[in-house]
Amino acid sequence: MCDESRNPTSRTSTSHAPNAPHPDLRTVDLVGVGAGPANLALAAALDEHNRLDEQRRIGGPLAMTVFEREVDFGWHPDMLLEGATMQIAFLKDLVTLRNPQSPFSFLAYLKDRGRIVDFVNQQTFFPTRVEFTDYLRWISERVDSTILYGTEVMGLTRLTRQPDGARFAVHVSGPDGRRTVHARSVVVAAGLSQRLPRWATRGPRLFHNHELLTRLEALPRHPEPDRFLVVGGGQSAAEVARHLHTTFRSAIVECAFNGYGFQPADDSPYANRVFDPDAVDDFYNAPPEIRAELMMRHSTTNYACVDLDLINELYAIEYREKVVGRRRLYMLPATAVLDACADEDGVAVTLRSRLTGVLDERRYTAVVCATGFESVGAEKLLEVSGAVPSGSTVDRQYRQVIDGEAIPGLYVQGATEATHGLASTLLSNAAVRAGEILSTLIGDLRGCEGCDDSEDRAGSAAASSRETAGTR
Ligand SMILES: Cc1cc2nc3c(=O)[nH]c(=O)nc-3n(C[C@H](O)[C@H](O)[C@H](O)COP(=O)(O)OP(=O)(O)OC[C@H]3O[C@@H](n4cnc5c(N)ncnc54)[C@H](O)[C@@H]3O)c2cc1C
Repeated sequence: MCDESRNPTSRTSTSHAPNAPHPDLRTVDLVGVGAGPANLALAAALDEHNRLDEQRRIGGPLAMTVFEREVDFGWHPDMLLEGATMQIAFLKDLVTLRNPQSPFSFLAYLKDRGRIVDFVNQQTFFPTRVEFTDYLRWISERVDSTILYGTEVMGLTRLTRQPDGARFAVHVSGPDGRRTVHARSVVVAAGLSQRLPRWATRGPRLFHNHELLTRLEALPRHPEPDRFLVVGGGQSAAEVARHLHTTFRSAIVECAFNGYGFQPADDSPYANRVFDPDAVDDFYNAPPEIRAELMMRHSTTNYACVDLDLINELYAIEYREKVVGRRRLYMLPATAVLDACADEDGVAVTLRSRLTGVLDERRYTAVVCATGFESVGAEKLLEVSGAVPSGSTVDRQYRQVIDGEAIPGLYVQGATEATHGLASTLLSNAAVRAGEILSTLIGDLRGCEGCDDSEDRAGSAAASSRETAGTR
């Protein structure tokens, strides 16, 4: 049918960051999987550590190589929609809550771009997503870590004790084909993967919102007006509906969701405390049933909820259209999609009212599934020998634990919601978490047997800085 699950290795078409020389692939202190905000926050913390003078720094400087499967820097690029703003205050950037004096803050970025006064005059805490993406790119171009784009990490193998302290063989596939890099530590921050409903077969006319702009651009056009279905009740669904309605000026846009209408996100101050750095300890130490209950109670801070301003904007559009008698935006409350079958010209969809049970067959130009994500952890990458592990989790210091054994040197960012709380997949705690991981990692490396190679490490850090100097 329409399944186009991509072959990851076929995307590694371009080389690493523009102008970056070929990296030194000796054993590296630290490999990052994924160059999203989580590992950029770590790279920034690492730079600050490396720049401390020797009296204040614990241990020698460390070098980090980050592998990123996308060919260039991007932050959810297919959802960079006109007018979309951050759901988080700019002060929760990648560094400020850890170190307000960091040279990698959003304010430092604004100053560097010559916009700090203009930004202040806007009187908002919430930059556009376009601007925040530019901030993230700015960091990616400034950190000393080597970022290799177009390079996917395919797997990790644990090594038996190596004289240089290498604990992992990291298998990557990039522009130069497949190769293996040895690392003393690995931090997996692989982000999110799309969650599609059972009835959805991914294709040019039926896709997840994470592919929105690329898919819309490739959509074959018809002379007759388009008709879109957006499935889902969260922020992304509402943003997609607004985007389709404003971009396709004669299109009909229908929104189907399980509930009766879009619900507002709770961003009130007390509810927001679930994202505080201190909440991580509270969550981690709580009994599992209380953790689960709190997650459920506070889910409308992040899941299946929409910014109130956007809800009001959509409502105003719908009402205006009722007044003038030219309807283009429709809400389908308590409506489930039972089936969807795409062909060259469109998608035939069977809808069922959850209120009456009545079935309805409709045809759309395209169907966008704003149906959420799943976090990607480290387990899938880790090659295990012997018995398949029966359980994996992450300890308080973000170390991967498999069958009750913490794996020294293997850290996870993101896929820790069940243990570390609602901030795990978000930016809220990225700055503080990066600092915590870095200090644990430094302790791990110093305590690591057979790692008496500080000169070698200092050398590789210096080499890495030299290599990336040309990318700034
Ligand atoms: C549209 C959208 C808007 C959002 N807005 C906000 C917001 O306003 N505030 C907020 O707090 N959160 C927001 N989020 C949540 C978002 O998940 C976080 O902001 C943030 O992106 C998490 O960073 P990350 O580095 O953990 O993951 P990601 O940003 O997903 O980055 C992971 C990176 O790893 C790469 N990768 C994955 N696997 C491999 C591999 N095997 N080898 C090499 N590279 C790999 C991916 O290509 C990706 O670049 C938003 C999410 C979406 C989808």
